[in-house]
Amino acid sequence: SAKQLGRNTFSFFTESMSQDLNRRLMLEEKMRLALTNEQFEVYFQPQYDLSSQYVVGAEALLRWHDDELGWISPGEFIPLAEQTGYIIELGQFVLETAIKQIHNLQITLSTPFRIAVNLSPRQFKDPSLVNTISHLISEFKIDTALLELEITEGVLLSGDELVRDALFELHQLGILISMDDFGTGYSSLNYLRQYPFDVLKIDQSFIFDMNTSEQVQQLVNAIIVMSHNLGIKVIAEGIETQLQLETLAAMNCDFGQGYFLGKPMSKIDFEAWLTQYALQPLNIENKSLSIQ
Ligand code: C2E
Ligand code: MG
Ligand code: MG
Ligand code: MG
Repeated sequence: SAKQLGRNTFSFFTESMSQDLNRRLMLEEKMRLALTNEQFEVYFQPQYDLSSQYVVGAEALLRWHDDELGWISPGEFIPLAEQTGYIIELGQFVLETAIKQIHNLQITLSTPFRIAVNLSPRQFKDPSLVNTISHLISEFKIDTALLELEITEGVLLSGDELVRDALFELHQLGILISMDDFGTGYSSLNYLRQYPFDVLKIDQSFIFDMNTSEQVQQLVNAIIVMSHNLGIKVIAEGIETQLQLETLAAMNCDFGQGYFLGKPMSKIDFEAWLTQYALQPLNIENKSLSIQ
């Protein structure tokens, strides 16, 4: 009967809701332990200059492996860390790891190598953010232009003066400010004129659709032309095919990142990969070797 169906539907929802809640609570507890036991790790994904075809930087991406649950995706644990406030400690860990890595690469590589770090909204609510970053920069004596901070529209939504001031201060220090996931938000264009962006990252959904949609290809081209006219560099994320790479290079897109160029790698794998590939341009014929 309808009544029964209604009851079943109701219990179905409560059951899945309480499963979600249970997983959340479990992850929160595990996250607290993982922080103390240093179970979070920072991976590095290469970024290429599309005209020289040399690797010029990397994005730092958090990874969490749990003995029972296996890999937990950042898409799941970052929002949770954001809600619980653990993101402050986690974010600090990523910043420190990335800045140490810049320091090391300043010594071992003969060319400048940039590392990009993602910052989330809650980190900007912390009034000591700018201090923390400038402290790390002087502690590890890095060139500020080698640090890039990626922020999404979520950081800017509040319209908060604190966020605005922090971004301008960081930019003033010579740190590169990059707008992540460009094109997916509501008022990306408006933010471009209000904040000091150096780099714009075209969201991977555009890159994915580019070669099947003439319209999307025109949009990507327009974003690149517009950015260049504003003095902003462009990086495309989510490059998975040679065709995407070649299309973007032909459009004068400055940089590229994606599985076709290199997957996110652990620190050890990344360093081994760098010694093998950093000093030579991308070799499409050897791609199968470099992206394992
Ligand atoms: P994001 O900053 O836009 O990072 C790019 C995401 O795309 C990464 O997912 C990366 O692994 C993935 N990706 C790279 N190349 C390709 C490709 O060719 N194809 C496809 N399909 N995906 C590709 P990941 O590592 O799962 O991170 C997801 C999101 O979690 C990030 O998106 C970022 O918003 C957040 N995140 C990751 N690490 C951190 C962190 O340290 N702090 C903060 N606040 N957020 C982070
Ligand atoms: Mg990012
Ligand atoms: Mg992105
Ligand atoms: Mg994204």
